[in-house]
Amino acid sequence: MSTTSFTLSATCGKARTGVIDTPRGQIRTPAFMPVGTAATVKAMLPEQVRATGADILLGNTYHLMLRPGAERVAKLGGLHRFMNWDRPILTDSGGFQVMSLASLRKLTEEGVSFASHVDGSRHMLSPERSMEIQKLLGSDIVMAFDECPALPADRARLEQSMQLSMRWAQRSRDAFGDRPGHMLFGIQQGGLEEDLRGQSAEALRAIGFDGYAVGGLAVGEGQEAMFGCLDFAPDQLPVDKPRYLMGVGKPDDIVGAVKRGIDMMDCVLPTRSGRTGQAWTRHGVVNIKNARHAEDPRPLDEACTCPCCTGYSRAYLHHVYRSHEMIAGMLLTWHNLHYFQQIMQGMRDAIAAGSFDAWEAAFHAGRAEGDIERL
Ligand SMILES: [Zn+2]
Repeated sequence: MSTTSFTLSATCGKARTGVIDTPRGQIRTPAFMPVGTAATVKAMLPEQVRATGADILLGNTYHLMLRPGAERVAKLGGLHRFMNWDRPILTDSGGFQVMSLASLRKLTEEGVSFASHVDGSRHMLSPERSMEIQKLLGSDIVMAFDECPALPADRARLEQSMQLSMRWAQRSRDAFGDRPGHMLFGIQQGGLEEDLRGQSAEALRAIGFDGYAVGGLAVGEGQEAMFGCLDFAPDQLPVDKPRYLMGVGKPDDIVGAVKRGIDMMDCVLPTRSGRTGQAWTRHGVVNIKNARHAEDPRPLDEACTCPCCTGYSRAYLHHVYRSHEMIAGMLLTWHNLHYFQQIMQGMRDAIAAGSFDAWEAAFHAGRAEGDIERL
């Protein structure tokens, strides 16, 4: 099969479940995408990431273009071969990181020139260059190049930025061309303003994309404001295409987003937390470095079936974390990714069964009971 498609199989309220078919495999939605910034999901082998239930990874255009370079990855057979992951990969456009990580930025109609945070070398990212890099990497889902302003921003700034992003969306579409088996997603902007989001959605629909991202959220506005925006933003996008909320989030952010009609998400949280001694569980966060775990023979979560919880005690995890052993980050990352994928599976099943509200109530009840540090 050389084409892609999105099939919705059930809805429950605004929550949706379905499947994105790609030549590299199916992506069950709602989907959580672990982040493989530098062509690796840190501390995990690709087959281990797959074993947690991930159907797709995210790779970062900005990081990979600077090191090792997109042309080098292409020469070595593309990102899938390079990192030994043969399932779908989504790459971001580089627009977000160039604004958050690079220095000496110069923003023009053409694109953004900047200095690398790695070695200070000068680079240029434009819609055309971003499409070229994502093609060189071989990504299955390509993101349009956009500008992501930090919030809070005044309305004039948001409007100007959104309109620039829509012109860049058209240029991204033109540069992407016709690539059967690959998808191009447009990115809605407009901050928290309903009318600007609506104008952005209209512009993107007129161009036509294979999927639509809600961009410019999870940039410091807080959960309440984000949910307020998600109460209308997904509804402005086509019903029959996947909707992707970029850079989200904590488990309760993810559940709240799916409830509001989001199909895909990504976040560094489960992997980053794993390396800093934090485990996400049904009851909340466990800080494994705390002394109270030093002699605790119980696993992180007695109901969890991941290799960390079936094989290791909190006392062991506390010991290896305190001793700076690599296995601490490996086991905690595995548990966290497993837990996030369990949430996604739970939501997919509940939406299919028409019982999302009951599932959501149980999810929140489990967390309310647990200031986990008291357990
Ligand atoms: Zn576990």
